[in-house]
Amino acid sequence: MNKLPFELDTLQQLIDTHHLKLQYQILADIPFRHEHFPLYSVELGGGDKPCPTVLFVGGVHGVERIGSQVILALLNSLLQRLVWDKHLQQMLTGVRLAFVPVVNPVGLFMGTRGNGNQVDLMRNAPIESSEKVSFMVGGQRISSRLPWYRGVGGMELETVGLVAYVQQLLSRSTSLISLDAHSGFGLSDHIWFPYAHTRTAFENANYILHLKQLFEQSYPHHGHYRLAPQSQFYRTHGDIWDYLYRQHQVADPNAQVPFLPLTLEMGSWAWIKKNPRQIFNFAGFFNPQKTHRHHRILRRHTVLMQFMMEAAYAQSLEQLTPERLAELTECARLYWYREPQS
Ligand SMILES: [Zn+2]
Repeated sequence: MNKLPFELDTLQQLIDTHHLKLQYQILADIPFRHEHFPLYSVELGGGDKPCPTVLFVGGVHGVERIGSQVILALLNSLLQRLVWDKHLQQMLTGVRLAFVPVVNPVGLFMGTRGNGNQVDLMRNAPIESSEKVSFMVGGQRISSRLPWYRGVGGMELETVGLVAYVQQLLSRSTSLISLDAHSGFGLSDHIWFPYAHTRTAFENANYILHLKQLFEQSYPHHGHYRLAPQSQFYRTHGDIWDYLYRQHQVADPNAQVPFLPLTLEMGSWAWIKKNPRQIFNFAGFFNPQKTHRHHRILRRHTVLMQFMMEAAYAQSLEQLTPERLAELTECARLYWYREPQS
């Protein structure tokens, strides 16, 4: 095989080096040409009883390598700290941290957005928008040679593997917050939550508003994120997180387990503005090229990710009373879903 990309190599090394400190699973074995690429998940902490879980995902789109790198940098840091950091050791008795750092190993290997079949994994889940989706970007079945291709053969192996894993995690959790790291949209860092396929209000927007308030009160100088339903930017078919949330509603009709799928869209256009030569380099469109900028991106989200872990450990979602949730539902409606004044 050609030399593995840095991210696949790093993930394999982290698993080999720290296998006594972590649990891993192979969620799928992706054949490509004459090779096989394992799709790994890694877990720290948790235990036998259901507990709060935070899931970090990267590399859904093979060109957006920085997303995988941010997740791998976090995993590496936690594995190093686990040796001496008593607070982290304590935290992992009450919370499970799960990682799928490279959802699309073949795409990463090939430097393509889609997988080995040119399918865009974030358009591949069996969920249709009944509203007008954005042309092309919303997902298309015209040709695998064009971007945002949804595929025609049902769910791809990578999608099946990720869906099954998230469902498995939900069955072992009292709450699940996930962060799926992407890059390439706009100038600032966005955090999107469902839905991507409809403008309908997301049922768990109340929990999301609670986390937003907690984060802004606790870290007032880290509020550079723009947090909103994805449908306010563009709508798509086939979003994995929309699909997973809908399936979760069927499995957990009484909404016992809050599930908050967040997508971090790192604003890579800002990197282009600062370094316009990047647009002549395809990878540069999605990934910071200068070393100092690269380091800055890798540390830029650590406060957010640490906050997610601490909030889960504190059971902040589990502790919300029905009365408080009802208030938050109304606040979330006014904040994100108010109809424009006519
Ligand atoms: Zn992406």
